[in-house]
Amino acid sequence: MTEIQRGATPTTSSYDVVAVGAGFAGMYLLHRLRGLGFTVRVYETGSGVGGTWYWNRYPGARCDVGSIEYSCSFDSDLEQEWNWSEKFATQPEILRYANHVADRFELRRDIEFDTRVLSATFDEQNRRWKIRTDGGEEVSAQFYVMASGCLSSSKNPEIAGIDGFAGQIYHTAHWPHDQVDFTAQRVAVIGTGSSAIQSIPIIAEQAAQLTVFQRTPNFSVPARNRPLEPNELNDAKAHYGELREFMRHSRGGQVREMPDKSAFDVTDEERTARYIEGWDAGNLGGLLGAFKDLMTDRAANDTVSEFLRGKIREIVQDPQTAEALCPQDHPFGTKRPCLDTDYYATFNRDHVRLVDLRRTPITTITPCGIDTTAESFDFDAIVFATGFDAMTGAIVNVDIRGAQGLSLRDKWAEGARTYLGLGIAGFPNFFTITGPGSPSVLSNMMVSIEQHVDWIADCLDHLRRHDVATIEAEADAETQWVQHVNDVGDLTLYPTANSWYMGANVPGKARVFLPYVGGVGTYRGICDEVAAAGYKGFVLS
Ligand code: FAD
Ligand code: NAP
Repeated sequence: MTEIQRGATPTTSSYDVVAVGAGFAGMYLLHRLRGLGFTVRVYETGSGVGGTWYWNRYPGARCDVGSIEYSCSFDSDLEQEWNWSEKFATQPEILRYANHVADRFELRRDIEFDTRVLSATFDEQNRRWKIRTDGGEEVSAQFYVMASGCLSSSKNPEIAGIDGFAGQIYHTAHWPHDQVDFTAQRVAVIGTGSSAIQSIPIIAEQAAQLTVFQRTPNFSVPARNRPLEPNELNDAKAHYGELREFMRHSRGGQVREMPDKSAFDVTDEERTARYIEGWDAGNLGGLLGAFKDLMTDRAANDTVSEFLRGKIREIVQDPQTAEALCPQDHPFGTKRPCLDTDYYATFNRDHVRLVDLRRTPITTITPCGIDTTAESFDFDAIVFATGFDAMTGAIVNVDIRGAQGLSLRDKWAEGARTYLGLGIAGFPNFFTITGPGSPSVLSNMMVSIEQHVDWIADCLDHLRRHDVATIEAEADAETQWVQHVNDVGDLTLYPTANSWYMGANVPGKARVFLPYVGGVGTYRGICDEVAAAGYKGFVLS
């Protein structure tokens, strides 16, 4: 909707920093920058804070990084006063936490809710960004930050007929705020990524019939979720400082020891015993981190992938369904694996059916349901669990224009290019949080968010103290960083999968390995060195 249609009164205001997004990234950025005396305005499409946890209210939504680790580390009082109730917190609990953070640090007064940023243009003459919103507001800022989320631009399936469906359509990433009741309904779920795998067992509890439409099976490991014991929480509270320090310098931003053995350094029996331990551990790290070469050596990965396929065949009673659920097209971990509660066992229920779209693709969504090449299905409701235009979608949804009118959409048409996932050549005074080229989605995002926010806040403080008006990534530094991200990625198995890490889930999106796989500790070291060397690789003017 344009400003004229809305009839809003345009206003002009001026800030030091404008940021997009009021998830944990935008909230912490606001808090940090405010503390440094910057004026900040945050725009958020949603009506509340929390980002991911505001939008993804589907049944079963919860984090798959332990709640104690998936929490803010920047305020020790906050750490001490908040009590997580479960090993993996539910979406409602994380949303309550996000609201608590907003209340505690009085963030809402600088957040404009229900407002989408449409465009941001760098005005070279005044060396300021002009930001326009769908509310008709136009504001200016010296610095512009996209804290718009890596998994916030949702994606519908590319299937004809969606608009003609007479029943209810839901997307896991835009779940209604009111309770959805599937009792006595015939329900379809399209997709078998993390969102589907969390929601399917719970939808199956309610629905009269549940049909899961699977294009690509994913690996999933039992979460073994449970209430947190008081001593676990107390222990974490007593040692938060050490835990956080470990996480900041770790590989994935979690409390997890790194393996030192290859899968082939041990006997077959020892290897299997290690995998059973990993399966029983109730976290992804138990298996991903079982041996040091699982993500770099195909033969090593085959051993864990085959172990997991064995587990699926053990749990799922119907052999044809079990086989269809066994991922064969990608090594374990190269597509984001899932953590579930009773996912595979759900397919043993009489009213739950798997449709393998590799054998019988969907042809169309009809007014009554879904047609495949083999069958017509009638449904009361269809759930799209079809994921996101990850890492770049929310950024390029805004028409961002840098120096000389350069469009970010055009610049990234052949693949995202950044320097450190923080800055972009041609876009002065512009930053992305957990942007492509940073560890981001390969890590506990809370750790990566805080690292980026701290780096940006320190940088802005430095620029102000040294009377520097603009900072911009150098083209050469960007090229070298992109090369490094690719080189490190190419040492792993990640690029072998058609994953959203590669942009492969969005038709027409350039195939580039988007995150930096070097690990959060290594990456932090690089960012700190860049800053210590007077922002090496950036032009300050
Ligand atoms: P978000 O929380 O995505 O917030 C970005 C906000 O920007 C959104 O609210 C959006 O509305 C707003 N926005 C975007 N564009 C615009 C615009 N143009 N104008 C105005 N507002 C805009 N990570 C983990 O580390 N561990 C987990 O267990 C985990 N679980 C997840 C579960 C789900 C279901 C999903 C989808 C993601 C999960 N993630 C997890 C990743 C999660 O996205 C991050 O952990 C984190 O919440 C991201 O915070 P953020 O503030 O960067 O982005
Ligand atoms: P996703 O992993 O991208 O899964 C989307 C699913 O939809 C895939 O199975 C995909 O199949 C399928 N799909 C997409 N388009 C389709 C089409 N046209 N026809 C048929 N199937 C189609 O998305 P997600 O499940 O929302 O998860 C995204 C990420 O968010 C996760 O990887 C994770 O990082 C995060 N997340 C975390 C949790 C958690 O446990 N904490 C929960 C949810 C999400 P293909 O594989 O064939 O493309």
